[in-house]
Amino acid sequence: MEYSVTLIPGDGVGPEVTRSARMCVDAIARKHKFSVRWDEQLAGQTANEKFGNVIPEKTLRSAKKNRIIMKGPITTPVGVGFRSVNVELRQRLDLFANVRPARIFPGVESRYSDVNLVVVRENTEDLYAGIEFDIGGKDTEELIGFIKRKQGKSIREDSAIAIKPISKFGSKRIVEFAFDYAEHNKRRKVTAVHKANIMKFADGLFLKTAQEVAKEHPAVEFEDRIVDNMCMQLVTKPEQYDVLVCPNLYGDIVSDLCSGIVGGLGVAPSADIGREYAMFEPVHGSAPTHAGKDEVNPTATILSAVMMLDHIGEHKAAKDLEGAVLEVIREKKKVTYDLMPKKPVGTMEMSEEIIRKIDG
Ligand code: NAD
Repeated sequence: MEYSVTLIPGDGVGPEVTRSARMCVDAIARKHKFSVRWDEQLAGQTANEKFGNVIPEKTLRSAKKNRIIMKGPITTPVGVGFRSVNVELRQRLDLFANVRPARIFPGVESRYSDVNLVVVRENTEDLYAGIEFDIGGKDTEELIGFIKRKQGKSIREDSAIAIKPISKFGSKRIVEFAFDYAEHNKRRKVTAVHKANIMKFADGLFLKTAQEVAKEHPAVEFEDRIVDNMCMQLVTKPEQYDVLVCPNLYGDIVSDLCSGIVGGLGVAPSADIGREYAMFEPVHGSAPTHAGKDEVNPTATILSAVMMLDHIGEHKAAKDLEGAVLEVIREKKKVTYDLMPKKPVGTMEMSEEIIRKIDG
């Protein structure tokens, strides 16, 4: 059996961590007698320099043909420049569910024990819709006038405005995904995260929809939390939570918080799932200060590859690869600096150790 996967190495530390994941997948595939054909494609600044487009048509074509994408992080200029390639890819491929597991592995230093939760983040709407009005623009002025006329509310004329669309369709789809995930993975509880006390329409719709969907899944416990309280609860008693379902922005923030709880971004994988396509990438970004130094942790990307193997139905290979990663972390002899070993090794050396475990 041969699988075709579009590989987008990204930039910053992306090429290093995706190389590790690719090597590990090839090793586990050899062992389980299948193979992966990697179709390497560019996106982000590197693509812009070569093709004048941050998401070249060629990249999108490959992703749509192969349906499975392994991606490294891609730098987004802050405040200026092009919009997030990551967000655009998720929107263009309608990868509506971002699944971010956060689990404490033996060997990883954490203030907590016994945390095993999953953040399911809506990926296509909310403040990430990319609908913004810049300070001083003609459209901004018209919008400010419209809001004054329709709602009697004044917005300062030197404002920039971002629009937060939350739809019933998008909310229902993500909450149903979270309940299906809970049922398939034998999880006991879904918690909906919102700020419906303040945003009564947008977050109110998300919450109301979640409550309706919950009624169709009586076997899974349901509750909701206001996002600020949710953060406090996660920091004080994370072991009480199981599956968290969040609109886009809260999901992004809460999942980084969960990564911190379980030992940092170096061990936090993710999957972006849609009806037709699926993309697998670490939660962390391009960590530019570490780029090219062979020092960051490849675990987040390798565990994202584990999620990919599960997704394509190679469950045994997924389990074995995860086992090899966890063994290396538990031994703590050949791990990167962030896992605080006595003597850290580089990205490649840790990856080679994982492959040694696979090859047994
Ligand atoms: P970041 O996740 O890149 O790095 C923050 C810090 O986390 C690093 O300085 C490092 O200390 C630690 N870290 C990250 N990955 C690690 C790893 N594998 N091993 C060990 N430590 C690790 O966050 P940032 O600096 O805020 O973002 C840098 C760029 O990445 C920005 O342009 C941002 O937009 C982009 N970004 C991209 C994605 C994506 O491609 N999906 C996600 C988040 C951020």
